[in-house]
Parts: sequence; C-alpha cells; structure tokens
Amino acid sequence: MSYVLVINSGSSSIKFQIVDPAARASEDPLVSGLVEQIGETNGRLTITHAGEKHVSQQPIADHTDGLKLSMRALDRLGVGPTSLDIIAVGHRVVHGGMVFSAPQLISDQVVEMIRDQIPLAPLHNPANIDGIVVARELLPDIPHVAIFDTAFFAGLPPAAALYAINSEVAAENQIRRYGFHGTSHEFVSQAAAEFLDRPLASLNQITLHLGNGASASAVHAGEPIDTTMGMTPLAGLAMGTRSGDIDPGIIFHLARTANMSIDEIDNLLNKRSGVKGIAGVNDFRELRQMIEEENQDAWLAYSIYIHKLRHFIGAYMIALGRVDTIIFTAGVGENDRFVRRDALADLEMYGIKIDEERNRLPNDGPRLISADDSAVRVLVIPTNEELAIAQKAAEVAAAQPDADRVAF
Ligand code: AMP
Repeated sequence: MSYVLVINSGSSSIKFQIVDPAARASEDPLVSGLVEQIGETNGRLTITHAGEKHVSQQPIADHTDGLKLSMRALDRLGVGPTSLDIIAVGHRVVHGGMVFSAPQLISDQVVEMIRDQIPLAPLHNPANIDGIVVARELLPDIPHVAIFDTAFFAGLPPAAALYAINSEVAAENQIRRYGFHGTSHEFVSQAAAEFLDRPLASLNQITLHLGNGASASAVHAGEPIDTTMGMTPLAGLAMGTRSGDIDPGIIFHLARTANMSIDEIDNLLNKRSGVKGIAGVNDFRELRQMIEEENQDAWLAYSIYIHKLRHFIGAYMIALGRVDTIIFTAGVGENDRFVRRDALADLEMYGIKIDEERNRLPNDGPRLISADDSAVRVLVIPTNEELAIAQKAAEVAAAQPDADRVAF
C-alpha cells in the first residue's frame, strides 16, 4: 500500500497525517499527528494511530526538532518513512500569490518562489516554508509537493478578482482577490457531484466552508466564479474571530480617532472580532448554549453571522443564475443544524427548502438535507482537506519521470 505524508506547518505547531490517497473521504487516516508549542519548554507531540493516542512531552526547540521527533516516533510505531511506502509529501501552503495556480513539485527554486509570496501572507507562508525546508532535509528521496489554498481561485473572472481601487497601486502591490480554503471548496464541489451522480460540468454550486474561518464560493461547472475571502482571509463572512467585510473607513477612523496602531487594528479585526468580538466565545456549541440561556450578545453575534451568510448566498444565487446545490462543510457547517436551517430559512420561492428531519440527523458523512420537492439540493459534505492534498501530491509525484525524482 502507498501513502502520502501530509504536512500543515504553522508558526508554533505542525499537523501531519499519513493518508492512503485512494481512501474514501470518510475513512480515518492511517496516522494523524500534532506537534504543539514549538519553541516553548512545554512542547508536546500527539500521534493517533489504530485508535490509540500516544502523547509525549518535551521541549521542542524548532520545526526541525518537531519533525525529527515525529518521524522517530512514527518509526517506533512501525508507521514511519522507513517502514511504509511513502510516495509523496504534500505540504499545505496558504498563499500561492499570482504565481501558483496548481500543485507544484518542490525544488529549491520553488521554495524561493514561495518565499517571494511572504508579503502576501506574512503570518502563514513563513511557517509553511519552515515545514517544507525541514521535511525536505529529513526525507530527501521522496518528492515533495506544495498545495496552495489559493490555487483553486486563480482563474476567477476579472470582475470578481479585481477591486475597484486605483489599478496602478493594485498592480504594484499585487492587490487582488486570491481566495482561500480552495482545497476544501474544490473537494466538496467534486464530492457533491459524485454523491448526486451528476457530471461536475453540469452543476452550479454554492459551497459554504463554515469553520472557525469561513468562506463561501460560487462554483460553475467545477470552476469558481466568485468567493468571499479576498486578498487576505479576513474578508467576506463574519467568522469565529474575524470581522469579515467591514467598511474600510473604519480602519482610518480607528487609526485617527482611537489612536490605534496598524498592528492593533490587525489584531482587533483578525482575533477579537467576529462572533467572539460580540459574544465573547467563538465556538458555536458555546454560542448555542448562551442563546438558549437568552444571552442577548450571543443572539446578536449569531444574527450578524447569519445575516452575512444570507447576504452572500443571495449574491451567489444571482451570480450563478441557476443553483443546483448548496453545500455546507467544515466544523460549523457539518455540525450546526441551526446555522444550516437559519441560513436557508424562507427561501421556498427560490426553490430552496430544507427538510427539518434530515437536517437534524447527526453528522454522518455526505448527506442530503433538502426536501424532495426542493429544486436546489442542499447537502452536508464533510470536507477532507488532507485527503485532497494527498491525492494531488500523489498525482504530481506519479507524473514525475524517475530521473527527476533523484534530481530535485
Ligand atoms: P474548523 O475550523 O472547521 O475546525 O471548525 C471549528 C469550529 O467548528 C469550532 O470553533 C466550532 O465553532 C464548530 N463546531 C465544531 N463542532 C461543532 C458542533 N458539534 N456543533 C456546532 N459547532 C461545532
């Protein structure tokens, strides 16, 4: 059996999975792991394999330390690179800028090109690069492939991709809508076509990735024609801790009148806004509990969240003209039946009707939640970004002639 090691490297953590790229979406990975508190004295490595959790605690100095520790632990469990046939390492990279519109076999030059995108994603790309550099050192004989969160949206039509700001300034500073969560939007739109047994090319879809970060996309024949996240993942829907779209004038007002620095405003809009900024919590389970206890702030936060969601669903219905499917995915979308119900309430005149019984069923794989007489099929499709990354990495690796495998 062949596997792909999937790595999602953050600034103080590394998530990884060992995935069979031919697995079904609902299957658990062979192994999943998490290195936490990198750079701290209370570092921790957690590996889950065959239903068992293995936790070890020790200081983890840096990403090199973290990945070395992980590979040794995997080998001890008999599921490491020395015992398994690992055909590729797939790296999640947040920002591919305008350079990367497809998965990319990683060479030294590609690493430098990803480095060039750092100004567009100063918080994410450096950590992604750390993971790539270390993994290539540790596993030099395996092809490494970068999979970009932005790539799915590289072909957005200009009217959706460009902002109405001065075009010289925009071009100089690479300002445009890049979109994020692309691997997930692509994965669920394809999975929906499979679930319905319809050709992807025949479908107009609205995909709603509602996790702690959240975004919506309008997808025509498998290609996105619009998406809510923008140049950065701060745009669009109200989210767990991010504001989503706001009047840009608010930023000038905070700088001029409240004397906030740019970094303070950045922190405010990314970390202290959204549902958390209003209700004090960003987990929708806690938010629901508070709503049931008649907490007014929780109700307000929820109402704003739903208002923004409906705003974009309406916009994308118009953009697509005809809608065949609306797909809910990610932590909130897969689990919160209230969000699904309220996002699509009272839209019968547009052919959208949720079946309350179907909607109430607990999370259990891909499923239809619309009524039989709903023209639009409303689906819950669990996303599986790691599997999608594994599939893409395996494909790129398989396309490499053997000579290239030793040369990169
Ligand atoms: P993600 O970013 O996709 O991992 O989603 C994480 C978010 O999903 C959490 O912050 C929660 O708000 C939400 N979530 C997870 N499980 C549930 C659940 N059972 N019910 C409602 N919301 C949930």
